[in-house]
Amino acid sequence: MDESVREAGGGPGLALDETGAWLDGVRRVPSPNFDARPADAVIDLVVVHGISLPPGHFGTPHVEALFCNRLDPGADPCFASIASLRVSAHAVITRDGAITQYVPFTMRAWHAGVSRFQDRERCNDFSIGIELEGCDDVPYTTPQYRSLSRLCALLIRRWPAIDVNRIVGHCDIAPGRKTDPGPAFDWIRLRAEVSRRLGDSRPGGRRGGPTDP
Ligand SMILES: [Zn+2]
Repeated sequence: MDESVREAGGGPGLALDETGAWLDGVRRVPSPNFDARPADAVIDLVVVHGISLPPGHFGTPHVEALFCNRLDPGADPCFASIASLRVSAHAVITRDGAITQYVPFTMRAWHAGVSRFQDRERCNDFSIGIELEGCDDVPYTTPQYRSLSRLCALLIRRWPAIDVNRIVGHCDIAPGRKTDPGPAFDWIRLRAEVSRRLGDSRPGGRRGGPTDP
């Protein structure tokens, strides 16, 4: 394994496997809802989402079912309108911090929908989408911040165009249409944790400095 894509600071950390597109040793549930990125796409954005099905219910199998096109539309009144959606994300982080990967990072997951980042539309083309199990007004968990920051640090090392300030919310790229991950998500905490893992305490600062103790 290329040490450059292992987490700094020792320990098991997260790493990409030999394909460079899947996390090593992380549960995989391949979703059919993806396709190829445009040939000239450079991955330079992470989009953080929040999802729970039904909303506010954690620990259910329904998000996984949605991403695999097997959500039972009769299982809950709110499912009828979403069961036919063809959506996915690259990874989901549940409340306990466990990561499941659904789509290879090199491919285009269908998470952003109609979206714009700065002057570019169709954010799926150039982003990696990560879902946190949660909802807008419930604080996300410490294990979720730990896993998300580990994952973001790994992705930034592998795709340096992402940068710590190019981790945004679905709400930022689809304002007026999407609100997740919501006001409960602590962006300052996430960026600080990612920067710390990258060995730089200044958000958006240089990379490659000394790691923290
Ligand atoms: Zn979202």
